[in-house]
Amino acid sequence: MALLPLNEALSNMLAQLPQPTETETLSLNNCTNRVLAQDIISPINVPSFDNSAMDGYAIKFADLEKFTAFNIAGKSFAGKPFEGETQAGECVRIMTGAMIPTGCDAVIMQEETEQAGENQIRFTNEIKLGQNIRRVGEDVAKGNLVLAKGSLLNVASLPLLASLGIAEVEVFKRTKVAILSTGDELVSVGKLLAAGQIYDTNRFAVRLMLEKLNCEILDFGILPDDPKIFEETFMKAQQAADVLITSGGVSVGEADFTKDVLEKLGEIAFWKIAMKPGKPFAFGFLGNEGEKQTIFFGLPGNPVSALVTFYQLVQPALSQLAGLNADYLANLMPKMTACAATNLKKAVGRQDFQRGFYFINEQGELMVKPVGQQGSHIFSAFYESNCFIVLEAERGNVQVGEKVTIQPFNGLLK
Ligand code: AMP
Ligand code: MG
Repeated sequence: MALLPLNEALSNMLAQLPQPTETETLSLNNCTNRVLAQDIISPINVPSFDNSAMDGYAIKFADLEKFTAFNIAGKSFAGKPFEGETQAGECVRIMTGAMIPTGCDAVIMQEETEQAGENQIRFTNEIKLGQNIRRVGEDVAKGNLVLAKGSLLNVASLPLLASLGIAEVEVFKRTKVAILSTGDELVSVGKLLAAGQIYDTNRFAVRLMLEKLNCEILDFGILPDDPKIFEETFMKAQQAADVLITSGGVSVGEADFTKDVLEKLGEIAFWKIAMKPGKPFAFGFLGNEGEKQTIFFGLPGNPVSALVTFYQLVQPALSQLAGLNADYLANLMPKMTACAATNLKKAVGRQDFQRGFYFINEQGELMVKPVGQQGSHIFSAFYESNCFIVLEAERGNVQVGEKVTIQPFNGLLK
């Protein structure tokens, strides 16, 4: 079977995923990292009144023609406006954020004033009409679209909603994801290893990434390589979850047996993707059309392959399922061009995702070097790397100084 290019596998998969429909209304305090299911239109102007950008004095600009010194008529504080109106030749002491008194149309900062007499000041610098005034609606105008459906609610967006006085929002429900590892050799952390056994790394890694993606996690543990147990557990997961993510059992040898079980329960495609690490990958649906369907992702068993396929394939899929908008999805895994700081080993045939470290050299150029050993069983290199070096399938060895594509790790791996 010919190897499937990664971008074909990805677009094929994304095209088959349903749009999220179920929503819930949550208070602003409880929706961090959730995805908006509605457009947010501003109910107010921000700021809602003209206010001062400086600590200083508010005047009527036209008075400058007749007066060189101004009497201080009163004070305007943030939250405690000056009541009344100034007379000709009067100014108001004003603080940052305080309401501009009626009729005033310029604010002179404190540092550009000097005492003229008792309760009287004069101005030392040139003054422009309207200076140092923040206008109504300058930040957000009432009726404008503030955040579109599909926006991520985070530190950059939630305070904006708070500034509009919005107390609750409609968001998409979190995706329920069941996880499990397969393999007779696997043992959970906290237990002793017998001969031939290894610790289950993948379920732990997948859980961490699902937490970052704000999914609801249902942990189905470790399954021994037994078709009957696979079938029972997959059926339970299908009932309980929107998505099932497994690892192991999709490579040559075991694949046939996993395949048999999955064929009974739904429609799953077993792909051999032209990527390294991470060749075997399974995608499809548990459950037949018309009944409840659960999306299935079968990751390869090697921990590095499992993590890389999760990052490159499952991350975009779960982000789309979460309801994130097209702009967000297009920028999920941005790429850049860097200069190879060393030679890189690369075999022609598959797209490589080498673990790399990018940095700026003394000349200010973006450079990248590979980190540690690149084998798909070597997990330790991840910790020291900060990007994937993405080498095209048809490319061979890379010489020092050649341009290469890098993909800096996004928040999922940091
Ligand atoms: P498999 O795809 O099941 O043939 O697994 C490929 C390799 O990955 C084997 O060396 C497995 O022991 C190893 N492996 C599979 N699952 C895990 C796991 N959850 N954690 C760590 N290693 C695993
Ligand atoms: Mg296995």
